Amino acid sequence: MTPLVDYHIHTTLCNHATGSSKEYIEHALKMGLKEIGFSDHAPLVSHRDPSVTMDFSDLPEYYAIMENARSQYKNEIIIKRGIEADFIPGYEEKTKAILDEYPYDYVYGSVHYIKKWGFDDPIQRQKWEDKNIDEVYQAYFELLRQSAMSGLFDIMGHVDLIKKFGHRAKQDLKDDIHKTAEVFKECGVAIEINTSGLRKQVKEIYPSQHDLKIYSEHNVPIVFGSDAHAPEQVAMNYTEAVELAQSVGYTEYLTFKNRKVENTLPIE
Ligand SMILES: [Zn+2]
Ligand SMILES: [Zn+2]
Repeated sequence: MTPLVDYHIHTTLCNHATGSSKEYIEHALKMGLKEIGFSDHAPLVSHRDPSVTMDFSDLPEYYAIMENARSQYKNEIIIKRGIEADFIPGYEEKTKAILDEYPYDYVYGSVHYIKKWGFDDPIQRQKWEDKNIDEVYQAYFELLRQSAMSGLFDIMGHVDLIKKFGHRAKQDLKDDIHKTAEVFKECGVAIEINTSGLRKQVKEIYPSQHDLKIYSEHNVPIVFGSDAHAPEQVAMNYTEAVELAQSVGYTEYLTFKNRKVENTLPIE
């Protein structure tokens, strides 16, 4: 198997990850990766929550960490400069201003909030209890489509994160996923095969095989990410990720540079 790329690696600046950037890179080397990218949580634009994202004042240090790592490891591994930003409707301009501050190689767009409810935050998990799960799923996919249409992002992160705690919609959401895939294709965004779901209650990669098959039918390109919040999670469960991608017909994945697709590489 060709070593794949891991584009979803956090740092301690988000206050819920452990390990130094050096430890993440060393683990990537141990796993045989040729390329990685950091993508820590960008500051929230709607409110502050230092336990889930970086703060505005962390951004210079974050960028410096990536630049230092790039020069230090330039002969060993390609390191890209990414960031993971939340999509919060109504705050598009503020989000754009943050993302334009530094020349990133790619930007992940992630939906972690439905109307200020951090649905994947363990502290806010209780709120699931009085929700209609089908409605929550529909609201989530609507936000995913809006985030792609905002033009702010290159890659859509963990595109069924809504299942994280194991809540499942009763209704068949096939039409919603088809609609979402069409929008992604039209907007030119890639999606991520994110192995972190295997480490959560749902015990399943994001997205599910069911959804990924639909994205594949619509030719939505993919990238690979572990969503590592600890060094040993870099490239974790990549065998399963490759099997999943191939099982629905994917033969290629993308790399990014300066917010454009750089290469289309074979999945082998
Ligand atoms: Zn995180
Ligand atoms: Zn995320």
